[in-house]
Amino acid sequence: MAKCLVTGGAGFIGSHLISRLLSDNHHVVALDHAPWNNSNNLFNLNSSAFKYVQGSVSNSSLFRSLITDADQIYLLAATLGVRRVIENPIGTANTQVDQIRDICATASSNQKIFYASTSEVYGKTNVSPLTEGLPLVLGEPGKARWAYACSKLLSEYLLLSLYRDKNIPLVVGRFFNVVGPRQNQAYGAVIPNLLSQAIKGIPLTVFGDGTQTRSFCHVEDAVDAMLSLMNNDSCNGQVYNIGNAEEISIRNLADKIRLLVDPLLETKMIPYEDVMPTGFEEILHRVPSLGKIKQYTGWSSKYKLDETLLDCLRALKGNSV
Ligand code: UDP
Repeated sequence: MAKCLVTGGAGFIGSHLISRLLSDNHHVVALDHAPWNNSNNLFNLNSSAFKYVQGSVSNSSLFRSLITDADQIYLLAATLGVRRVIENPIGTANTQVDQIRDICATASSNQKIFYASTSEVYGKTNVSPLTEGLPLVLGEPGKARWAYACSKLLSEYLLLSLYRDKNIPLVVGRFFNVVGPRQNQAYGAVIPNLLSQAIKGIPLTVFGDGTQTRSFCHVEDAVDAMLSLMNNDSCNGQVYNIGNAEEISIRNLADKIRLLVDPLLETKMIPYEDVMPTGFEEILHRVPSLGKIKQYTGWSSKYKLDETLLDCLRALKGNSV
């Protein structure tokens, strides 16, 4: 039994991770700036092994005291959604930098850390699939989208230095478009967006020409991947992609969703400039190479896209009735 600290614990991935940690008999403290209320992912969680702390990772004295008490630390707190990043690049970067500064100052070698990084760090790197060792091509600083990738990448550099210099056990996972039940559609991610449009019977919004591609990882697969990295010391001090290799264009994704919910639904193509603030730049293709994590841990994704969509649809329908 370990004492686990999860930052961003009230969020989508955090809440799924916490359910799993509790069912594996660990003690969990969730730190999140969101208030504890009905809309919270963890609202129904009632366990003496679970504690919720409402607060910011930028509250250094609070965060440092929670770090000191933990055996395992999962750093998941982040600004979510491309639009919110563009609207608040400084807050986006601070959330990462503040967490890592306190981890670097406080963590010790008898703890273990998981850092949730992102496929955004690959930026405009024009290679498919994306492997962890590739040189990276990010956008110019005038485009605020890149504040997220840059602050995540800086955090990766600092954490890998912490591993090398002070031998602190840690591992970095780069998440590729994680989706699943309880994902909040308010952040604009494409699958919850299109599914909720389909349920409402309104046209599905496809941005740009819809030829951009993504691959979507079910949140349960992402949790399995995180735990397999945390439970395997040979993974320490390394970066791993976490995702699913099944690539689909957004136009084809919209078609799949129409067929799943109502084939008569319309798809509306919307130019980016009509829907995204200045500072937006599209990433055209993004598919992970998953060879490294498989080689080190044996993990591979289990969910096919069709099953993931069905799972998300069931959860959304459950919420709307
Ligand atoms: N997208 C879309 N319609 C929507 C929301 C998103 O066509 O209602 C597109 C978006 O432009 C991007 C892709 O879907 O090409 C994935 O967007 P998301 O925000 O989910 O993730 P990210 O861009 O970070 O991969």
